[in-house]
Amino acid sequence: MNYQWYPGHMTKARRMMQEDIKLIDLVIELVDARVPLSSRNPDIDELGKGKARLVLLNKADLADRSATDKWESYFRDRGCFTAVVDARSRTGMRAVSSAIDDACREKKERDRRRGIINRPVRAMIAGIPNVGKSTFINTFAGKACAKTGNRPGVTKGKQWIRLNREVEMLDTPGILWPKFEDQMVGLKLAVTGAIRDEILQPEELALWLITYLLTQYPGVIAGRYQIDEETLTAQASGQSPDRAAETADVLARIAKVRGCVKKGGEPDGQKAAQLLIEDFRSGRLGAITLEMPVLEKQI
Ligand code: GDP
Repeated sequence: MNYQWYPGHMTKARRMMQEDIKLIDLVIELVDARVPLSSRNPDIDELGKGKARLVLLNKADLADRSATDKWESYFRDRGCFTAVVDARSRTGMRAVSSAIDDACREKKERDRRRGIINRPVRAMIAGIPNVGKSTFINTFAGKACAKTGNRPGVTKGKQWIRLNREVEMLDTPGILWPKFEDQMVGLKLAVTGAIRDEILQPEELALWLITYLLTQYPGVIAGRYQIDEETLTAQASGQSPDRAAETADVLARIAKVRGCVKKGGEPDGQKAAQLLIEDFRSGRLGAITLEMPVLEKQI
């Protein structure tokens, strides 16, 4: 298994996070816009209590924009500022800057009332492995920002990156672990590629993905693999008597269309599964979100 997931690493990272969080005013949490709940650890709500909170919906280039809008509302309803990001591109970074300003406003106002001036707001990036923390720090802070180095009153060894006159950011991100108790969390993270799928077989992931796509994004599989839409629609509407067998049949048909065959001429389900998952991860299936928020009305 990926070394990142060993319990020792998790404990150490959590301890570091607890230490670092004491130094900061603003938690900038990165989540994967395709799986905004599965890619976060709700412990951050407890860890970040009393801090300003900004949630960045990253990898938004791969996510369904209308779902991302709903997720923004979801996090805003829970008291977080939000921004939608593709960490690899500089274009969305202006929106991030203004979201950071918004998130910091209250703190700056409080400082001002107390007569504290020119004290920068300190921020920290946090998120699960592979969510895009390093990419984001590079794109957002990049080479343009000078490291501030150690200063009196700041814990030794901590590097701060000055983002602007008012905000500085810890250059080492806080690492969070997903909540694996729910089996679906592991499955969705494996589909997105956030965790290595050595426990779950590619075929298992692919069969789940096929069922999800047929019901939530009809036409996507038919379009990509030129498979007869009519039979797929029957499966999506649940008219099919044996759904599992039908889903397996879709995978077999993908295998056939893409020439994934074993030596004896049998369809190679494993290869087809890998191909489908790779098509999803790279965005070749289109912009797709794997979970939707249940929006509760605020009273
Ligand atoms: P970290 O472990 O949280 O620091 O994650 P990384 O910054 O190493 O990113 C993990 C992978 O996701 C890398 O292959 C990145 O290129 C990719 N990545 C990060 N942000 C984005 C994004 O917004 N969109 C897409 N498509 N890929 C991204």
